[in-house]
Amino acid sequence: MKQITIPLPDDFHIHLRQGDALREYAKTASLQFGRVLAMPNTVPPLTTPEQLKKYREEILDATSATAPHFEVYLTFKLNKNYSENELTELRKQGAIAAKYYPFGVTTNSQDGIKNIEDLYPTISLLEKLNFVLCLHGEEPNAFCLDREKEFLKHLSKLAKEFPNLRIVLEHISSAEAAEAVLNLPATVAATITVHHLILTLDDIIGDSLMPHHFCKPLPKFPKDRDAVRAVAFSGNPKFFLGTDSAPHTKEKKECCCGAAGVYSAPVAIPILITEFENAGKLELLENFVAGFGADFYGLPRQTKKITYIKENQKIPETVDGSVPLYAGTEILYSPL
Ligand SMILES: [Zn+2]
Repeated sequence: MKQITIPLPDDFHIHLRQGDALREYAKTASLQFGRVLAMPNTVPPLTTPEQLKKYREEILDATSATAPHFEVYLTFKLNKNYSENELTELRKQGAIAAKYYPFGVTTNSQDGIKNIEDLYPTISLLEKLNFVLCLHGEEPNAFCLDREKEFLKHLSKLAKEFPNLRIVLEHISSAEAAEAVLNLPATVAATITVHHLILTLDDIIGDSLMPHHFCKPLPKFPKDRDAVRAVAFSGNPKFFLGTDSAPHTKEKKECCCGAAGVYSAPVAIPILITEFENAGKLELLENFVAGFGADFYGLPRQTKKITYIKENQKIPETVDGSVPLYAGTEILYSPL
């Protein structure tokens, strides 16, 4: 294959951060994706309609010159119970999903809720108002490689208690999570990142310490990566792209207590083309990056297109002050 034209991809899980860095990260994202769902774990977290309005304006301001078609959907952080009126106001400012982070599991989650059942009053309203619930599915006190597996009991319970609520288990990383999502009703879906399709724990600590591969949930055993790849390449509409592109500055990654997150937005789509091509599943790429996610969220499918050509692309050592996935190496596809 010499080139491929696909709908402009959707990213249903991205971190655009805040302040000056937001301008750079948003601009980069807008050149790769037509639409993104931005995560709310800024400092302070996004929890009010006023914050969402400002955040959305900042992103659109940063991208309007280079990508005027770029659309932003927002999440808000579930760190308290919300009233129906509050949820309605959040919706008016572009929120289509609520994001749940358990206490302390990832970047800026020290204000997370310890017991998800404490949020059931709000979760019931999310169901009523047709929001999506996005879950960072890790059980904080479990052993690091078991955290996702240990969280699955909450997922099953939520799916049972709220049968009309659409739930996304974000960035699945284990065979057990893939299996659970497969077996739960159609209201439960999962996002899959580029890095969890590629990495195992070996790529973080197997040889030398690779801080730029360190992320939550941790990439795990080869069997887990194989299970994530199997569902990604299956054509099952429950599984779609959410990159969880989560940039931190080089300094914040290369230090004691380095931050978790892989900066994949600059390279996500070219890498996915190669991965789907190598798996012999290129015909399924379009739905994975620009079909199933939109369908699940009830958004119209993207009509704009983007073409990638088979031409080596050298990935810089840093992009926007952060070290991207595959930094300093060559990848096979470039945008036309
Ligand atoms: Zn994330």
